[in-house]
Amino acid sequence: AAKDAGRNTVRFFDPAMQVALEAATTLETDLREATAQGQFVLHYQPQVEEDGRIIGAEALLRWAHPDRGMVPPGEFIPLAEKTGLILPIGHWVLEEACRRLAAWAHIPGAGSLGLAVNVSAYQFRQPGFVKDVQQVIAATGADPARLKLELTESLVLENVADTIARMAKLKTLGIGFSMDDFGTGYSSLSQLKHLPLEQLKIDRSFIKDLGTSPQEGAIVKTIIAMGRTLGLHVIAEGVENQTQLNFLISAGCRACQGYLFSRPVPEALFLDLLAAGGIIRVKANAADKQAA
Ligand code: C2E
Ligand code: MG
Ligand code: MG
Ligand code: MG
Repeated sequence: AAKDAGRNTVRFFDPAMQVALEAATTLETDLREATAQGQFVLHYQPQVEEDGRIIGAEALLRWAHPDRGMVPPGEFIPLAEKTGLILPIGHWVLEEACRRLAAWAHIPGAGSLGLAVNVSAYQFRQPGFVKDVQQVIAATGADPARLKLELTESLVLENVADTIARMAKLKTLGIGFSMDDFGTGYSSLSQLKHLPLEQLKIDRSFIKDLGTSPQEGAIVKTIIAMGRTLGLHVIAEGVENQTQLNFLISAGCRACQGYLFSRPVPEALFLDLLAAGGIIRVKANAADKQAA
């Protein structure tokens, strides 16, 4: 029939692709607007010692989208990196994190906390990155010794010599570094020993089956031993239950981050945790009882 004629015309895109393309274009337009209009917020996930004492936080980016609500970073960071929008966004993250850090210095119980900030490879490789960080520190009055930049293994390994040079410059300002998602890349001990790191952060994927999978247990023990050999602190991410925590403690990992203690929360809630004593006590959950 005449109605179907359009279906026989040659298309460069099939309709599904067209829809996907339009969605991506809308997201990009929205993301540009978000950057200009300041629709981003930071949430803070506590980092604790084995007894639940809060020693710091990781700043995690969220997009308060006018129609879609809170959008998690996994849904827009890849596009932000592809379009270069990660530069203004990443700058905002750093500035906001440093502003909060400077404010916390005057809050009882919050003055000695560390704050970890994630940095994208594209952002880290910008020629002006070191200067940018320096300016943000100066403008906000944040104590650089409390700031920790989280770099992923893939970022570091992409160009080790350049990475080391940049890290060294930032380190002279007092800034520390954590290797995020550690264990998912391929860094060797010999590469690691040249990096001015303070911390290894064990990737969540290895924590997931701790206590039930002997293989994961062996990997985590190896990472903890590597950290010890190199004189680095080790923190576990994605700790969700007591079984995992018990394993980590017995293996010598003293710092944790995960839903067992707290999800990432708005700043006000994070400060409430500190005001309530700064120790998060965990309750055994159903999964733990099963495992016990
Ligand atoms: P990441 O840096 O490895 O952050 C940890 C992620 O694990 C966070 O997801 C956090 O909410 C989640 N998480 C924490 N504890 C648990 C747990 O017990 N169980 C589970 N299942 N998940 C847990 P989120 O906030 O969605 O962030 C995802 C990733 O987005 C981050 O991974 C980081 O790579 C990136 N990201 C977040 N904020 C920023 C930012 O400001 N700049 C850049 N460049 N990347 C960011
Ligand atoms: Mg991180
Ligand atoms: Mg991580
Ligand atoms: Mg991770």
